Amino acid sequence: MGVSVESDELSERLRQQTRKDIRTVILPVREIREALQRLYPPAAARESDSQAALVLDEIFAAAIECYACDVHIEPTEERSGRVRLDVDGVLQHDRVLESGLYERVVSLLKVRSNMNTGESRLPQDGRLSVTFDGRGFDVRTSTIPVGGLEKIVLRFLQRFDLVPDLEQLGMSGEMLGRFQRGLRRPGAFCVIAGPTGSGKSTTSYASLQTLDLGRVNVCSVEDPIECRMPGISQIAVNERAGVTFPVALRALFRQNPHQLFIGEMRDAETVEIALQASLTGISLLTTLHARDALRVPARLVELGAERSTLASSLTTCVSQRLIRMLCRRCKLKSSISSQALAVGRRYGLTVGIDAWEAQGCDACDFSGFQGRIGAFEVLEMKAELGASMERGDAPAELGKVAFGLGYRPMIVDALRHVAAGVTSEAEVLRHLSYEDAE
Ligand SMILES: [Zn+2]
Repeated sequence: MGVSVESDELSERLRQQTRKDIRTVILPVREIREALQRLYPPAAARESDSQAALVLDEIFAAAIECYACDVHIEPTEERSGRVRLDVDGVLQHDRVLESGLYERVVSLLKVRSNMNTGESRLPQDGRLSVTFDGRGFDVRTSTIPVGGLEKIVLRFLQRFDLVPDLEQLGMSGEMLGRFQRGLRRPGAFCVIAGPTGSGKSTTSYASLQTLDLGRVNVCSVEDPIECRMPGISQIAVNERAGVTFPVALRALFRQNPHQLFIGEMRDAETVEIALQASLTGISLLTTLHARDALRVPARLVELGAERSTLASSLTTCVSQRLIRMLCRRCKLKSSISSQALAVGRRYGLTVGIDAWEAQGCDACDFSGFQGRIGAFEVLEMKAELGASMERGDAPAELGKVAFGLGYRPMIVDALRHVAAGVTSEAEVLRHLSYEDAE
């Protein structure tokens, strides 16, 4: 939609130098900049942008030092940039990047992530590596267009040598026993449910670590691979290249896997293949976006699973939340609510009136918290539960049957951490509600 204008001396010179016909058009500055970026990728020039590189190093250092899992770099209304770090699930302000520097930092990140630097109107994914204090970190990067600029999020991938042991996640001994029993059953079908950021991946990797990787053929299909684990054949989903969950799973079956990890079940075909696999004796571990363990069967039925097949194959449903732990240096004495006492009584949990609450000090960056711990629920599928599932019972009905078999809702497990002074009641109520214990 350019407008032609009369050729001038410049076009004449260009014509001579390029030996091409020159046509002059008027375009908005933005489009010209984008065209220039597309034609002359600024990789070399941008890499030498030492200010942007320096700022980026500082951001990575800040993120690694406070164990941030994500870094959000996003444009503000004034076209400057805001950098926030996701520490234990809460965003913390890190710095503001003035306009100009913001674009250069984003551009440098795109270069280092092997993204198309000329493309700013479509979302992109990439990866980069950072070394800090001699330690290497894999970082997944993604961009989305926001108000004419780009927001970029960096996610630090978990290092396999830092994946905690299953025992360190916060499960009670009794719960851990039930979970491990379920995991080791031949033809096991274990589902870990929870919302985004609830620690499903960490629990999955911690579980895979307990398998005898030397003697068992363990394969996974993940989107994306969040942690590279030696001893496991991991396939990354790549929709553009045609490697979808179903395609990758079918290919894996030809290689006789003993144990399969499916990163997430989110479509009917994957659920169907998973059920077939479990019926042929392959042990299966997977994650599902569902609020709690009681809602797993209904969610799988929604995704196309047949109730009777599900009832005979599902072995364990786990759900979890990651709850911030109080800073030991500054936590303050307080008391527990009457609701918490009532729930504790109902489920046979020893809850005293004493509790602790967050304050904030130097040691915890004035957040009052340091580190996170899991609150879990484990639903071990037994014949009675299978029958309830097959009837299509609502989650609450399923819960009544499960209660008789030893199941306790997550909120009760979280209250165990409150009673032990590990976290505060207010922190628990950010994630869970007493309604789930009724
Ligand atoms: Zn503190």
